[in-house]
Amino acid sequence: MILIVDDHAENIFALKKVLEINNFSVDTALSGEEALKKILKNSYALIILDVQMPVIDGFEVAEAISGYSKSKDIPIIFLSAVNTAKKFITQGYAKGGIDYITKPVDTDILLLKVKTFYTLSEQRKELNEMHQTLRNEIDYRTRTQSELNDKVKELRSILESIPQIAFTAKSDGTIEFVNDKWFRYSDLQNDFPETHPKDKDLLKSWEEVIKTGNTLDVEVRLKNPHKNIYRHHLLRAIPVKEDDIIVKWVGTFTDIEEQKRAEIKKDEFISIASHELKTPLTSIKGYMQLLGRSLAKSNNDIALNYLNRTQIQVEKLNLLIADLLDISKIENGKLEFNYKEFELQNMLTNAIDVVQQTQECTIITKGTLNAVILGDENRIEQVIINYLTNAIKYSPKCEEVHVDTSYSDDKKSIIVSVTDFGIGISKELHNNIFKKFYRVEESSNRFQGLGIGLFICAEIINRHGGKYGVNSNPGKGSEFYFTIPIYKQI
Ligand code: ADP
Repeated sequence: MILIVDDHAENIFALKKVLEINNFSVDTALSGEEALKKILKNSYALIILDVQMPVIDGFEVAEAISGYSKSKDIPIIFLSAVNTAKKFITQGYAKGGIDYITKPVDTDILLLKVKTFYTLSEQRKELNEMHQTLRNEIDYRTRTQSELNDKVKELRSILESIPQIAFTAKSDGTIEFVNDKWFRYSDLQNDFPETHPKDKDLLKSWEEVIKTGNTLDVEVRLKNPHKNIYRHHLLRAIPVKEDDIIVKWVGTFTDIEEQKRAEIKKDEFISIASHELKTPLTSIKGYMQLLGRSLAKSNNDIALNYLNRTQIQVEKLNLLIADLLDISKIENGKLEFNYKEFELQNMLTNAIDVVQQTQECTIITKGTLNAVILGDENRIEQVIINYLTNAIKYSPKCEEVHVDTSYSDDKKSIIVSVTDFGIGISKELHNNIFKKFYRVEESSNRFQGLGIGLFICAEIINRHGGKYGVNSNPGKGSEFYFTIPIYKQI
């Protein structure tokens, strides 16, 4: 908007008309005083200012507005009826005015000047806005940078205080900070500690996660260069993201040597104990058979009944010991498989019969298969029996358990699933239950077990090139499944 200031209303009227015809919006003031008030309130792109006015003349107005920060940059065209005497013009410029026109006003020249100033003023406004945006951006960046620096300082002091070896790295994997404990295993900040030659190559794993952006979770033995000994450590490194972009990595090496030793001792104990238990148990079973025969001859039904019950319990003991033995074999890589061709359907029917004989819960089967598998029949049967006994065990008041068989979409595998309607398992525990010795805590007191059955099943299925898993909801029941490649169709 343009402000015209003149003490003669008729001058204002004429100028206003000319400007409005040319699409300028115009405001007016009849005195210097009124002009100053308006300039303070509104924002103008240009002021056309009559020099000769009573009380406050044009130059005084110009001087006053050059003192306000809001208006100091508004261009001014002075109008004077007197003359173009040099001293007026220079006085005009000295007060911050930009141009000068004498009365009577030549409207063409005035319009030309107004247009130029107006455009200039608009451009200046834009420039100012851009400048302001840039300023805001710089302020924002400076602020976030200093916040980031604070966070980095805080993170580093935390990393210094923890018992682990800790480090941070840039997004490209270059190490930028290490805590004091780092130097127990490495002499240089930029070099990862040396690992055991038989362990995973640390640098390779590191480069891989830097590329993929995944979390790194790996067990390695770190060499203590001063004592020349290795200790087991768990390296865990996670990416720190901002707006979904990795900005840095934070990693720790946790010393798990004691835990590892305890684990090895425990495995040794399980291995020895299960072997030692197996021998007397085999003798017990043999003597029980002899006893059974002799009781049958003497028709001692009561004693035979007790003997049968004893046999069931001995069989349970036998299975427990067999599971423990399997665990040690898996640990030592000695779980052997006797691969042969067999019909899955026959084996499934037998396994279901075996379980059904000792259980009241009804096992309902769906689907028939005409496929031959290449695998260890006893071991696959072990998986099915384990799934079935679990399904019944973890379903108090069990009425039904379903066994479904089907072909995978690509028809290359068979899917076997065992569904119960028992206590179920929360989703976040689904991955854990196939781990060694894992038992769901809330139900572990109500149901007996060692937490190794599913671990062995997982190993068996893996070794047969199949997949396993569970779908389950607490209170609704569970579906345990596994797949196994078809060797040939019949
Ligand atoms: P165990 O039954 O001897 O504890 P498993 O390895 O067979 O060991 O099972 C591991 C854990 O998984 C169990 O302790 C139990 O918490 C859970 N689980 C297994 N099968 C089922 C099931 N059908 N329903 C609910 N929970 C189950």
